[in-house]
Amino acid sequence: MTGLNPAPHTPARICPNCDGFATAAVTSGLGRDASGHLRTITVDCTACHGHGTTPVRAVQLVGGRA
Ligand SMILES: [Zn+2]
Repeated sequence: MTGLNPAPHTPARICPNCDGFATAAVTSGLGRDASGHLRTITVDCTACHGHGTTPVRAVQLVGGRA
């Protein structure tokens, strides 16, 4: 419970394109390496470049949603 004080102001907001999950590991389709690890590539959100947040004044939606 926070009492009568409002929540602290956050300078950045969650990226609307990736909802904060800015980086994903995607399987490369090449199977596993010699030690048995699944081969993956890391892909960052193109809107926030892997940060997960966007500056308050620079909100841009990829894909043209208005
Ligand atoms: Zn993002």
